[in-house]
Amino acid sequence: MKDRFKGILLTRNDEKKMSVNVTELSLDDLMDGDVVVEVEWTTVNYKDGLAITGKAPVVRRWPMVPGIDCAGTVVSSQNDRFKTGDKVILNGFGVGETHTGAYAEYTRLNADWLVAMPEGLDGRKAMAVGTAGYTAMLSVMALERNGITPESGPVVVTGANGGVGTVAIAILGKLGYEVIASTGRPEEADFLKTLGASEVIHRDELSGPAKPLNKERWAAGIDAVGSHTLANVLSMTRYGGVVTACGLAQGMDLPTSVAPFILRGVTLAGIDSVMAPLGLRQEAWARIAKDLDTEKLEALTTETNFDGIIESAHAIMDGKIRGRVVVKMKQ
Ligand code: NDP
Repeated sequence: MKDRFKGILLTRNDEKKMSVNVTELSLDDLMDGDVVVEVEWTTVNYKDGLAITGKAPVVRRWPMVPGIDCAGTVVSSQNDRFKTGDKVILNGFGVGETHTGAYAEYTRLNADWLVAMPEGLDGRKAMAVGTAGYTAMLSVMALERNGITPESGPVVVTGANGGVGTVAIAILGKLGYEVIASTGRPEEADFLKTLGASEVIHRDELSGPAKPLNKERWAAGIDAVGSHTLANVLSMTRYGGVVTACGLAQGMDLPTSVAPFILRGVTLAGIDSVMAPLGLRQEAWARIAKDLDTEKLEALTTETNFDGIIESAHAIMDGKIRGRVVVKMKQ
């Protein structure tokens, strides 16, 4: 590996004013870990946008190399789980927030955070799926663990045009589920149907205050929106149904009642991708390789390189990015 390599470094001065620097780094600039990975592919997530623009206090250690996920090759390892040459995926565990991250040619990580690249995936595909897609798979797996099958009935997906929503629809569609997509962008209905939705509804139907119980419309739900939307999804879920909650695009509140739980036996399953245990991660990535038609998502993926990261981070904050951005780090 090179002694000096390119990276992005976020620094803060005494007045807590942040600077974004494209600079040369060495391993001494990276935090401790037992595996060094050459970053081949990464991506620009909303959280990376927050870190690079400084719009929210995502970074909690200074200086910081941002970048919350990557795929690459192990170049040195002091851990038995991985050896030089292994292909790996990293996401979560505070990388790019509290531990130096992915926007450098090399990153030093803990082996316990890494997932071996499953057969059928490669670095580019894994980063096109990214944290959002992996969260969608965790959500589908939670429905299954709670007994939902395609025979149970329709599944509503909220925030349908977002990262979590699009991948959730593609996975559910491939698994044979009837999918109802809820979106504020009805002009994208044809695209959502190509991905796997059978019906598209306007998100306004779900965004106002919810009744404790409403007409039963679906057997399950994958919600990335929170607030009134999640309350409505719960109040419209059939007896014995299951709803997953992973996001807060509408709000962090949940203005609901216990009615769906105590009168219809509905289950609300929480989804966290950041600290999800290794076994669950390995299963999720293996299922992505098997149950996601990544070709369908290719139409929504734009490719950039190291020099495009900062611009993409600003664009994602300005709402100018449609779909996913993958970053080719190794030319
Ligand atoms: P995106 O920004 O790609 O998508 C969010 C979607 O939500 C939008 O595309 C839009 O869909 C919908 N939306 C946005 N604003 C509103 C609103 N005010 N009311 C109703 N719907 C709205 O984000 P992701 O899909 O990547 O992430 C979705 C959520 O999940 C985020 O809150 C994110 O923080 C969270 N998340 C949580 C994780 C976890 O570990 N729990 C991991 C990854 C993400 P449309 O245009 O179709 O209406």
